[in-house]
Formats: sequence, structure tokens, C-alpha cells
Amino acid sequence: MKSPTSRADLDRSLSDARILIVDDEILNQQILKSILEDEYNTFVASSGDEAIEFCHRHMPDLVIMDVQMPSMDGWTACKIMQSSINLRHIPVIFATSLETLEAEATCWHSGGVDFLVKPVSSVSLQNRVKTHLTLKFQSDMLKKMAFKDGLTHLYNRRYFDDLIPKEFALARRNKSCLSIIMVDIDHFKHYNDTYGHQKGDKCIKLVADTLSKVIHRPTDFVARYGGEEFVCVLPNTDEQGVKVISKSIQEAIQEVKLAHLDSEFGVVTVSMGLATSSSTTMDMSELLGDADKHLYQAKSNGRNCWAA
Ligand code: GH3
Ligand code: MG
Ligand code: MG
Repeated sequence: MKSPTSRADLDRSLSDARILIVDDEILNQQILKSILEDEYNTFVASSGDEAIEFCHRHMPDLVIMDVQMPSMDGWTACKIMQSSINLRHIPVIFATSLETLEAEATCWHSGGVDFLVKPVSSVSLQNRVKTHLTLKFQSDMLKKMAFKDGLTHLYNRRYFDDLIPKEFALARRNKSCLSIIMVDIDHFKHYNDTYGHQKGDKCIKLVADTLSKVIHRPTDFVARYGGEEFVCVLPNTDEQGVKVISKSIQEAIQEVKLAHLDSEFGVVTVSMGLATSSSTTMDMSELLGDADKHLYQAKSNGRNCWAA
């Protein structure tokens, strides 16, 4: 298997990189684009708000940001990106005609990773872009290795523990519902005993792939919680919504029809515990505790079902 840190991987990522150029003057957009477009995929936006919208939709790998623009300036846009969980990892290089020390300091304080004065030198721009993209891809790769489970390629428990308080705080702030589903494979000990641990691992992987197919909204995620346990995190999803998703999970797992002769169902099945943060007073450990309690209920109700 190829090492994920191989040089080839890094080079491929660099040439695949997507760079957003933000400038209100078309001539400036064209100049910056012409310096970078031979090596990277380039896109343009004309204001700070357009840039933020683009970032949310297309997640570029790097942004080159002008400062003075109508409707929203580059400093404000960069600060908004810094305050967003989803956008703060995108490096912003400021390219501005403002030459004062004060302006330069504001670029750094807004969260920029670098600063260039217009007219930009093409060799400096190319090299700074390359340096920041390399750093970003290395950091993305390290995060991926730290937060992904090796067997299933799902997020791991560390990622879940790190992210769930943030999701919970966000849901509270937006007064929206946050639902979770604890998923546990039924009679998995028997599965290992009957088919062996290697097949057991394959079964875990298959259940993980099936969960990923059902949980497909961009804000949702699935993590491997423990051995044969998974957790689905569903922001903006209420009690009704989480039941619909649990039903889809149950059907999708059954449709895989993976034989499990030592189970009363004859195929691999899962049990699920559901929980929704319905009030602003509910705390995170209550939410997790509820899901856990409901999972036990589903097990004692006969398995291959969910409880809420
Ligand atoms: P229940 O229906 O009540 O959930 O029964 P169960 O047998 O699935 O539950 P239990 O928690 O007792 O067993 C889980 C088993 O999962 C025990 C352990 O050997 C196995 N397991 C945990 N992690 C892995 C893994 O990574 N690979 C394999 N093959 N088995 C694992
Ligand atoms: Mg278990
Ligand atoms: Mg189990």
C-alpha cells in the first residue's frame, strides 16, 4: 500500500489545488490568474461576501485576498473565515496596494498567513502560494491520520470527542436540534467466533460503508465510536428526522444481506439508540447518556431495531 505521506501524493495534491482570487478589479483578477493558472485551478470572486459564499460551496485550498472591495472588505472576510469551523483552515494571503504598517498589521491580525504588496512579483507569489499549499496539505494529512480510523476510514473516537462539544454549542447558539444515533452490531462476538476476526473486520468495514452511504448531508458525520459501535451526528435534525434516518440505516444494513448464521435474523443487523437535544438546557453528557440508554433498550427489545 502506498504511504499517504509519499512525495507523489503531495505533488498530486499541489497540482489539484484550487485557489480563489478575490479582487474587485477585473484587471487585477486577470494578472493574478495568469501567474497561477498554469500550475493550479484558479477561480475568482469580486468581494468579501462573494468569497465567503464560494468558500462554503467549493472549499478552495487557498485564498488570495484584496483588502479594499465594495460591500465587504478583505479583512472582514478573513475574520469571518477565521470564526467559521468549516473555513478557518483555508489559508488567506493578502495582496493589497495598501502599504502602511498599520494596514499590514491589520492583515496579520485578521488571520492572514502572508502579505504581498501590489503590483505583486510573480516569482514571489508563485513561491509563497507553493509554500502555503504545501503546509496546508501536510497539516490536512496529519489531521486525517490523527482523526481517521484505519480500518473503516471513518472519523475516529478522538475526532468525535473533539467535535461533539463544538456541534453541541453551535446547536445551542442557533437554537436548533442536534441528534445522534448510537449504532451497535448485533451478536458481533458470535460473528467473530463463527467467521474469525478477519471476516469480523470486513463486516465492520461493510457496516461503516453502509452508514456512510445513508449519512450523506455535508454537515452530518459518522464516527467509529468503539470496536463494533458507531455514532452518527446529525445537526439540524429533530426527533422525527432522526427516526427516518434510523429506519433507512436499518433497511440499508439488512439489504447488504451479510450472512450471520449465529444470529436469529440470519444476516448482520444493528441496534440503534437515538437522542435529540430538544431543549436549550439539555447538556452534552445527557444527550450521549440518552443515546446509550436507548441502545440498551433496543438490545433488550430484541435487537435489529431502534429505540428513542
Ligand atoms: P450485542 O448484540 O449485545 O451487541 O452483542 P455483541 O456480541 O455484539 O456485543 P459485545 O459488545 O459483547 O461484543 C463486541 C465484540 O466485538 C467483542 C469484540 O471481540 C469484537 N470487536 C471489537 N472490536 C473489533 C474489531 O476491530 N475487529 C473485530 N473483528 N472484532 C472486534
Ligand atoms: Mg458493543
Ligand atoms: Mg454488539
